[in-house]
Amino acid sequence: MIDSKQKHDESFFSRLKLKQQLEKDDVIWDVVIIGGGATGLGVAVDAAARGYKTLLLEQVDFAKGTSSRSTKLVHGGVRYLAQGDISLVYEALRERGLLLQNAPHLVSVQPFVIPSYSWFNKLFYGIGLKVYDWMAGRYRLNKTSLVGKATVQRLLPNVKQEGLKGGIVYYDGQFDDARLAVNLAQTCVEQGGVVLNYMKVDDLLKNAAGKVTGVRAQDMETGQEFTINAKVVINATGVFVNEVLQMDTPNQEPLVRPSQGVHVVVNSSFLKGDNALMLPKTPDGRVLFAVPWYGHVLFGTTDTPLDSYSLEPTALEQEIDFILQTAGQYLERKPTRKDVLSVFAGLRPLAALGKDSGSTKEISRSHKLIMAPSGLITVTGGKWTTYRKMAEDTMGKAIKIGGLPAKACNTVSLKIHGALLNKSDNFKNLSFYGADAHRVAALAAKHPELGVKLHKSFPYIEAEVVWAARNEMARTVEDVLARRLRVLFLDAKAAIEMAPRVAAILADELTQDEIWQQRQIGTFTALASHYLLEPHNATKPKAVTHI
Ligand SMILES: Cc1cc2nc3c(=O)[nH]c(=O)nc-3n(C[C@H](O)[C@H](O)[C@H](O)COP(=O)(O)OP(=O)(O)OC[C@H]3O[C@@H](n4cnc5c(N)ncnc54)[C@H](O)[C@@H]3O)c2cc1C
Repeated sequence: MIDSKQKHDESFFSRLKLKQQLEKDDVIWDVVIIGGGATGLGVAVDAAARGYKTLLLEQVDFAKGTSSRSTKLVHGGVRYLAQGDISLVYEALRERGLLLQNAPHLVSVQPFVIPSYSWFNKLFYGIGLKVYDWMAGRYRLNKTSLVGKATVQRLLPNVKQEGLKGGIVYYDGQFDDARLAVNLAQTCVEQGGVVLNYMKVDDLLKNAAGKVTGVRAQDMETGQEFTINAKVVINATGVFVNEVLQMDTPNQEPLVRPSQGVHVVVNSSFLKGDNALMLPKTPDGRVLFAVPWYGHVLFGTTDTPLDSYSLEPTALEQEIDFILQTAGQYLERKPTRKDVLSVFAGLRPLAALGKDSGSTKEISRSHKLIMAPSGLITVTGGKWTTYRKMAEDTMGKAIKIGGLPAKACNTVSLKIHGALLNKSDNFKNLSFYGADAHRVAALAAKHPELGVKLHKSFPYIEAEVVWAARNEMARTVEDVLARRLRVLFLDAKAAIEMAPRVAAILADELTQDEIWQQRQIGTFTALASHYLLEPHNATKPKAVTHI
């Protein structure tokens, strides 16, 4: 158990200080949100920005679930356009533009190249992407163009040459998902809300009429229990929504089932440049991306329905083989298992077939809002790109159900914590901190010993661990190496090598002892070994999750 006495709690984002607000008696929150992924954090920002008394509780860390495991695209969804889902694409293209405007430190414009091996495909996808541009209207990022073979070879030097007829260059957004989650949590607090990680909701409170009146939550660090009163409770727990729905109605049939998507990460030499590769239709009819990210390349993804879910889903061998083989069919130098630096899996909540009840209202094809007779609101589905619109829709319902005074949504132009209007190259390796970059640099300048790099292959310095503990609510080695810095997702072996030093710095910051440090290193190493691709017959230690 962690003694939650932190050495530095002057930050506006100190867990200790925020938790004190739960200890006050007789407080009734306007809105309590369960789940600190994209969906829950979006709702928390919307609610706090409208001026409601807002609390968000996350059982592990912000973005521990699916929200740190995406393809890192802020996109309209070329695939949905091909499926004719016009309204979803319109909505997502607008949200893409807003996110670029409100979080420019984390979202950037990414050129994508579709190589064509038939004239028909070049024309077909070319016209489709021109329509995509046109639909974006004033939120268009750049102009789609049909290009010749030589241009494709220049933009994607490793692409398969044989039969190449040219291609299409189009533009979408790219981002750092887990860092956006942390910045949203900070934005919520700046707007007057409270967010807490390592706080698990284990039951709902109800009155005699069966209406939900709050939640019971446990601090996963200390075991302390809290009884929290609320006018409206929102279930934003991703693939875990069934568990909260069952707290409401014990025999509730599952409303969602998980579908797994896997990514494989290799070094940048497999793309050789800043352009992403997009394969709109692989031989077995799927979409495959190869996206440059923090000096590495992400290949993905798959879509595998599963019967069970977990916070640490495991990639199936056939998913890894599919990605490597399919990517290999389009590349001159083909990635193999030994090139894989990290492999990670995420779970999409899919509507369970035939389980839609009369109370389920489909707001759009992209996300669902489910209003239970008890007043519990569940929001599920959708994508990272549309989190803001999902939140706006959810709060529209919450205001009615909770009997809250009507207040308009104001997140269309709300800047997310760290937003920098004028990007500068001054703090190149710290640019993802946005407006905080100079403060991280100042910390390293004041304490030169913190300017030391954590690993020879990465630019991250020790000051960033201190910063994460003091200002970004990082509580464990995993919080730092998986979600504040993204090393676990980029290179699992390097992350394991960094763990002892990160544990030592964190222990000092969080006033923890040697035993805590050793436990942290052991827990993280076991978890990270699941991101490493071992030979087929190797066995790995069991991963332990912090709940
Ligand atoms: C493989 C893959 C690739 C994707 N790529 C993209 C992409 O490129 N672009 C895009 O826009 N979208 C993408 N998406 C979709 C996007 O990632 C998801 O829509 C989004 O992350 C879902 O967020 P969420 O908050 O609903 O769920 P989650 O991120 O899973 O969050 C739910 C949270 O609830 C917490 N929780 C559960 N139970 C409790 C409890 N009892 N108490 C407290 N907390 C609890 C969990 O710990 C978890 O952190 C992708 C999805 C997948 C699976």
